[in-house]
Amino acid sequence: MSYVDEVFQAVSRHNPGEPEFMQAVREVFDSLKPVVEQRKVYRDAGILERIAEPERQIVFRVPWQDDKGKPRVNRGIRIEYNSALGPYKGGIRFHPTVNLSILKFLGFEQVFKNSLTTLPLGGGKGGSDFDPKGKSDGEVMRFCQSFMLELQRHIGPDTDVPAGDIGVGAREIGYMFGQYKRIRNEFTGVLTGKGLKWGGSLIRPEATGYGAVYFAEEMLKTRGETFKGKTVAVSGSGNVAQFTTEKVTELGGKVVSMSDSNGTIYDKDGIGDQKLRYIMELKNVKRGRIKEYAEKFGCEYREGANPWSIKCDCAFPSATQNEISGKDAAELLKNGCMLVSEGANMPSSPEAVSLFVEKKILYGPGKAANAGGVSTSGLEMSQNAQRLSWSREEVDKKLNSIMVAIHKQCVDSAREYGDAGNYVLGANAAGFVKVADAMIEQGIV
Ligand code: NDP
Repeated sequence: MSYVDEVFQAVSRHNPGEPEFMQAVREVFDSLKPVVEQRKVYRDAGILERIAEPERQIVFRVPWQDDKGKPRVNRGIRIEYNSALGPYKGGIRFHPTVNLSILKFLGFEQVFKNSLTTLPLGGGKGGSDFDPKGKSDGEVMRFCQSFMLELQRHIGPDTDVPAGDIGVGAREIGYMFGQYKRIRNEFTGVLTGKGLKWGGSLIRPEATGYGAVYFAEEMLKTRGETFKGKTVAVSGSGNVAQFTTEKVTELGGKVVSMSDSNGTIYDKDGIGDQKLRYIMELKNVKRGRIKEYAEKFGCEYREGANPWSIKCDCAFPSATQNEISGKDAAELLKNGCMLVSEGANMPSSPEAVSLFVEKKILYGPGKAANAGGVSTSGLEMSQNAQRLSWSREEVDKKLNSIMVAIHKQCVDSAREYGDAGNYVLGANAAGFVKVADAMIEQGIV
């Protein structure tokens, strides 16, 4: 049995009942076979065994009171995965499905993603099974304060710097930052995604979506193509989906779908700027359902469906993990889809990934394509440390050049390891080598 398979089996035995985590490890390990084959030093240094094990996992009780005065309790988790390249960095997710398996998969992916950004960032992830949906602002605030009461012991601007993710946007970051400041009596860049008036960076809200489109633009260039005239399917209608739609539209593409966990809208005329403003108000302020868009603009609504049966040239999964099954992927390919750029983390199932790679479409995996968010968080940290704030144009330009650099690393590394055009191999190998080399230089720690 190969070294990679041996370690995979050991990791598998060590982490029973964690399917999402093992799915992420399998994908990365499979890509690393040619790398580990070529560089025996990684085996000698036990890098795969060490890289798969988080440096620290913190699990805690989060008690809070609802509006009726009833005591409630949720579980809080922070996975401090790997600090070889810098302080732990990664988002916080509030969603009822959150558990150790999901946060470990996200943390593991984050390590390689952050390495690809070229910025000095380690990897981490956190969250809670708290569901902000249907909660009042007061309830969300009390929950965030309780969550931070414990989390603050473990984080800091040079230790661990969380950000947003599913269910954690500007409102939640604000409540958590306020609580951290009150407890620690210090105003530091301990969280990113902060409000613009108090340390946030311009373009951070836009960064993941814009970045996924910039990455896709680079992939299209390799085939002499652009977004002009392309029909695009986007899933989700949260932060990533909204700014993906905005940028695709700006570059001349037509976005025909968005979705939420209840269903999908199919607007053949395209979700142009004005309609997108309606969605932003609906989702970020009124916290309504995407179905209301179909009622307002008279387009088709598909209850309980995802967008993948809609005919499109490009797909941007921007909702959640495993949202594209093997069957969905086959449907996308049958309808002529030639590009998939993952705004979400691990949205494609292993069967879908295999199909995309086999059919040689332009397939940008999340750890490369959605790295614009954490990159701009890194830029927010730099601005906080210097007590400066850069202009919108400046940050957007830096974001674009980071995405171009990530794309180039993927292309070069895929070629180096013998499968040109395979962005999965390229992203995993390029992200891994930097972390692994740093771990070797830092000794067995
Ligand atoms: P938001 O909470 O802003 O939006 C999430 C969207 O996805 C909502 O429309 C939500 O619908 C939908 N969704 C969530 N869970 C499911 C589900 N189980 N089935 C169907 N739809 C679902 O989150 P973000 O936009 O921030 O994150 C989206 C994805 O992008 C995640 O995978 C996240 O990890 C990834 N990502 C985010 C980054 C960021 O900077 N925010 C950075 C890098 C990656 P509903 O409202 O009905 O729940």
